[in-house]
Amino acid sequence: MAEDDFLATLRAFEGRSVGPVDPADDPVNVPMIRHWVEAMGDTNPVYLDDAAAQATGRDGIVAPAVMLQVWSMKGLKSQGPRAATEQSSLLDLLDEAGFTSVVATNTEQEYGRELVPGDVLSTTAFIESVSEEKATGLGVGHFVTTRTEYRDQDGELVGSMMFRILKFAPRPKGEAKPNRPRPAVNLDNQFFFDGAKDEKLLIQKCSSCGALRHPPGPMCPSCQSLEWEAVEAGGKGTVYSFVTNHYPLVPAFDYPLNVSLIELEEGVRLISNVVGIPADAVEIGMAVAVEFTAFDDELTLPQFRPVGPSSAVSDGQPAESTSSDRSA
Ligand SMILES: [Zn+2]
Repeated sequence: MAEDDFLATLRAFEGRSVGPVDPADDPVNVPMIRHWVEAMGDTNPVYLDDAAAQATGRDGIVAPAVMLQVWSMKGLKSQGPRAATEQSSLLDLLDEAGFTSVVATNTEQEYGRELVPGDVLSTTAFIESVSEEKATGLGVGHFVTTRTEYRDQDGELVGSMMFRILKFAPRPKGEAKPNRPRPAVNLDNQFFFDGAKDEKLLIQKCSSCGALRHPPGPMCPSCQSLEWEAVEAGGKGTVYSFVTNHYPLVPAFDYPLNVSLIELEEGVRLISNVVGIPADAVEIGMAVAVEFTAFDDELTLPQFRPVGPSSAVSDGQPAESTSSDRSA
């Protein structure tokens, strides 16, 4: 199929419904609001305290606006085999054309009014747009944008959500691996990446109260000071948590890909990779030490390698011993 014809076929899906009207399982309710604000650490009293909400001119408590999607989520229960929809047909077409990988790229919500306990929502969704073929850092592909509309018990539109994915073609076998994606460097975190280039693991330290913090930010969360300096960490830590990423296959990485949250001896945690062992051998509590990997001329990042007896067989290098057993 010619490229123009293919795009016309894709764009014919624009505006089509993704499925029938989907009623929420539960009305907007206080217990779910309570769990959400506790999990998020949101202490605004208008979400749980009627009197505080009334003092702001509201009739009573309201649900946090960003809970919008919560009310239509289906939880973990089995939903059975998925019915074919216009969206699945569109994605099948893209698969057949070689755009077999998918990654969610961005989402935006818009709010019509504040939701209150007792509101009963239902959703409809449609395909809003399909982009022309784009060359991206992940590969060549098409952006597919869907929009979900939220209506209340009276049919009033109370919010909507845009959700965009990129369907892209994975790197063909034998093709050179592209560069690792660039981090988003800004005034607050540039020191960290500059330090990595010099093979130093630098952590932000509040000049006022001395608290360490990571990821970098403009203000101390302990004392609100804007004054800070960078200190070099010793580079030893443990695996606090990790995930093993199998999908989507982003061409710059090797899979399965370990992504670990490393707790440094200094007490702060940072996201990195454990290297030198298979992804399925990484364990929580594992002692690790930093090393610096130059991915290309511009980008050097800290990564972590296991230290201690269990790592001795991993790469033939003699293993260091740790001074204390931090997993105890
Ligand atoms: Zn401080």
